[in-house]
Amino acid sequence: MTALLSHDSTNFTLACDGCGQLVTNLAPTMGTWDVVWSLFSQDGWTGDDLATGPHTCGRCARTSPPRMVEQALTRERTTPATRQSRRLTVTHVAGVVVVTLNGNPDLAINARLRDLVLDLHGRVRRLAVDVTRVSRLDSGALDVLVQASRLCIDVCLVGAGQQIHYSLRLLNLDRLFRTCQTLPEALSDGQTVDVSLPSTGVPRSDRVEAL
Ligand SMILES: [Zn+2]
Repeated sequence: MTALLSHDSTNFTLACDGCGQLVTNLAPTMGTWDVVWSLFSQDGWTGDDLATGPHTCGRCARTSPPRMVEQALTRERTTPATRQSRRLTVTHVAGVVVVTLNGNPDLAINARLRDLVLDLHGRVRRLAVDVTRVSRLDSGALDVLVQASRLCIDVCLVGAGQQIHYSLRLLNLDRLFRTCQTLPEALSDGQTVDVSLPSTGVPRSDRVEAL
């Protein structure tokens, strides 16, 4: 992710993936990501239109670093899929993978989330991420969710609070993800699904595992 969110999600920094140059304090002066990127791309920066990048400054523009998704697809796992954690649990309900984050994401959680997304690629189309107990999503977590979206996984954020909504709007990522207030809403997709009875007609897919 090359647009790095501030801790309170109200500001962001643009980082060059080539040389690491940082351009800070962009939100107060320019507003949202779309405005920032239109100005920087006129100034010689190149890269993806999405805040997740990669992006390179004018000096680094001649080199072409591997795209983040390619890097993620080719890199070694950082965590075994079966590793236990109370902070990130995975449930399968009615064809939807539900990831519940039980605290704000950090490097370890984001690595597990990334491995999960790569595991789901080609097998599962819908991912609901329950962020009811999360106050903020950092740039790393948002990067993983963008990757999921790019891998054709329909991502729905469940129970996002004000700060998360604000960061999605700031980086213009709100157009990539659905947001729902409740899990049944995320699962329903226009139909009514009784999540209190997951075993009904859902063989094996209601299993719960921890990553
Ligand atoms: Zn650079």
